[in-house]
Amino acid sequence: MNPIKPSRVIIESDVSNSGLVETLRANLPSARFEIVERVRDSVRRDPNILEVVRFRGRLLKSCPGTQNYYCCGYRILHFGTQCTLDCTYCILQAYLNQPNLRLFGNTGEILEELSTELEQNPDRLHRIGTGEFTDSLLLDPLTGLSKVLVPFFARTKNAVLELKTKTNFIENLVGLDHNGRAITAWSLNSEQVQRSEEPKSATLEERLAAARRCADLGYFLAFHFDPLLEYPNWRTGYAEILGRLFDAVDPARIVWISLGAFRFMPGLKQKIRERHPRSRIPYGEFIKGLDGKMRYFRDIRVELYSFMSEIIRKVDPSLCLYLCMEGEDIWREALGFSPEERGGLSAMLDIAVESKMKVGPGQG
Ligand code: SF4
Repeated sequence: MNPIKPSRVIIESDVSNSGLVETLRANLPSARFEIVERVRDSVRRDPNILEVVRFRGRLLKSCPGTQNYYCCGYRILHFGTQCTLDCTYCILQAYLNQPNLRLFGNTGEILEELSTELEQNPDRLHRIGTGEFTDSLLLDPLTGLSKVLVPFFARTKNAVLELKTKTNFIENLVGLDHNGRAITAWSLNSEQVQRSEEPKSATLEERLAAARRCADLGYFLAFHFDPLLEYPNWRTGYAEILGRLFDAVDPARIVWISLGAFRFMPGLKQKIRERHPRSRIPYGEFIKGLDGKMRYFRDIRVELYSFMSEIIRKVDPSLCLYLCMEGEDIWREALGFSPEERGGLSAMLDIAVESKMKVGPGQG
């Protein structure tokens, strides 16, 4: 896929002299740059607009996990919001009341806040990602942010960075000294789902080629099958993509694989109807979970997870596999254990990272 090129960049005067804006000017020579005192939330979505604002809240957030389900304890480095890849199921359509691509110009403060956090909590491992409110690499060809973040994490002793994407924009990662502390991660789905629900993102072939290249560059990898969708012939589709995944990369390079069945806040259904009228995904049978989100019935979720885990475990029984936002009974039924038996989900993921870090970059 080709990098996006917004034609209009609206910048808050507070951050107009930032390094980020300088990089954007260099990488978008034909765009119109406008400086305003304050960027206003707009009601209409315009994929040609990129906004750069000063972010005034906490730049390091906890993953919005929900009560009653096991949460991975992941922290989010908040560098921007929204995404123009427009996946039909994207939760950002319902979550954010500002619809355009937005970056935070105060990158220096992001790193300062992060340094303080790591120094104040030196005894724990910090698993930090950037792909919760946007795609981690969608704007990287324009911002070069990975060229700042990856070397920063390489110098830390107690943190790893997960860059989660549906793009193949990995050029900036080439040649960086990552010290094995950056995990490049891809969301994957079946070919049919990618074509119908994620048509603007990189093809599965492009994503797997990018993953393979990152593995060759010594990066560790992660994969997220989320959302898993139930549709006719889903078994064939998911078995096929798992086969392609393990043909493309050595499982020893993979730190973890997550599985998450489709779930959504009730308000998202209307958004999907309006914005993606051809999508059939909100018309299945759902029940409301303990977190207020609509989910497939438990039998369907167990079936999806069991099917995936059986294939993955045949390839590598030691691979760290986890469920996103599920409770103990589903874990036991689908995977045969509860995270509590292994010290909790957070501890499981910490161990998965530490076992790879001991091996060292490039030696998986
Ligand atoms: S890539 Fe992620 S953030 Fe972007 S539209 Fe798709 S689900 Fe949303």
